[in-house]
Amino acid sequence: MSSSSLHRQAVAQIDRGADLIGLAPQYRAILGQPKNEVIVNFPVQLDDGTWRSVRGYRIQHNNILGPFKGGMRFDEGVDLDEVKALAAWMTIKCSLVGLPLGGAKGGVAIDPSALSEDELRRVVRRFTAALGSNIGPDHDIPAPDMGTDARVMDWMMDTYANMSGPERRNSVKGVVTGKSIICGGSVGREEATGRGVLYALRHWCGEHDRVLDGLDIVVQGFGNVGRHFARLAAESGARIIAVGDHTGAIGDPSGLDVHKLGLHVDEHRGVAGFGAADVIDDLFAVEADVVAPCALENQITESVARNLRCEVVVEGANGPTTPEADAVLAGAGIDVIPDVLANAGGVIVSYFEWLQNRSARAWSADDVDERQRSMMWDAADAVSAAAAEYGASYRDAAYAVALARLADTYDRRGIFP
Ligand code: NAD
Repeated sequence: MSSSSLHRQAVAQIDRGADLIGLAPQYRAILGQPKNEVIVNFPVQLDDGTWRSVRGYRIQHNNILGPFKGGMRFDEGVDLDEVKALAAWMTIKCSLVGLPLGGAKGGVAIDPSALSEDELRRVVRRFTAALGSNIGPDHDIPAPDMGTDARVMDWMMDTYANMSGPERRNSVKGVVTGKSIICGGSVGREEATGRGVLYALRHWCGEHDRVLDGLDIVVQGFGNVGRHFARLAAESGARIIAVGDHTGAIGDPSGLDVHKLGLHVDEHRGVAGFGAADVIDDLFAVEADVVAPCALENQITESVARNLRCEVVVEGANGPTTPEADAVLAGAGIDVIPDVLANAGGVIVSYFEWLQNRSARAWSADDVDERQRSMMWDAADAVSAAAAEYGASYRDAAYAVALARLADTYDRRGIFP
């Protein structure tokens, strides 16, 4: 984590949206802090027989719209401040796209790539047990995020099911989303976030008289989000001219072969060393139409923003652009399609998975895609309309739309007691 507080950054973003709609002070106060902060420390035995104490988090930001919902991040750098920010962004995201879900986020401060499969499974099972009834299919529903995947979600679900008693074993599958399909996952969930990033970009293209075909795109991150986004964008005719990750950055002005790059990353765990490309020193200085940060937060800082040469930034990652960079980009006329809209495809299809688990039915891929597209499109329309109405950036407009829905709900229900 950087020394500046990510949570303060999230609250500042909420405040900007709140100013636009004149949000009542009591709602600002509620949304300025998470509702619950759960921190657990638990022992895990490593393969060499030694024990390690591991810290895990589950931050439940708000549940006025529905059960808490949000990913679980496994990364050495996970800390309370980061998870609080990520949880707040989930509340805004779910509200913006019209889901009956609240916001949460969690994580474990470990590097999963440094663990064997057995060690990782022990971490997941013990973490899930430590969380106990703080999660549940009607209460708080985790999902994958950085460093976690369907395998981790399957273990979480299985652990929770085994702790729930035999009569509930099958009815609690919806305790997590992002599971493998055979364990109750949804078709389309794995690529949902990347697909949603592409829908958000397609919507922007429609409003700016551009088409995806022939766009030059730079992508940071080639994990779940970046990889699927890059593949789907390339399939739509865009050129992926540079890709960076934790191992370095590579590029080809005539467009990388994304499929071959995927095979290389599977084998070498990073883009570095991909033969059919040049090595790039400064990924964000590459001239392109679109820059898609799909890795970590705080990547596009003020100084990086000054060097960006693109028309639009589409935020696959959460929080990749600092507030100072936002101001620089606005001044330079570079649009930013904000994270709370651009990467909402993941939580939308997670919601579909949860619905399928509750009804014990499986939807078709076409059903999932069409419903996802329609929800993302409606949200993008609402953001564009609010941006025009308030003369605001897409980010501030997105917060205004999301906060208005939350405020309307609070107005009707009242604040307990
Ligand atoms: P992932 O673990 O699958 O992939 C992360 C990628 O980031 C990898 O390619 C890794 O090499 C790269 N990376 C890590 N450290 C880096 C560094 N220092 N510099 C450059 N690249 C680095 O994670 P993911 O699920 O793709 O998540 C990426 C981002 O998208 C996160 O911000 C996450 O919160 C957000 N997000 C994910 C989902 C989802 O469904 N997985 C949904 C919404 C938002």
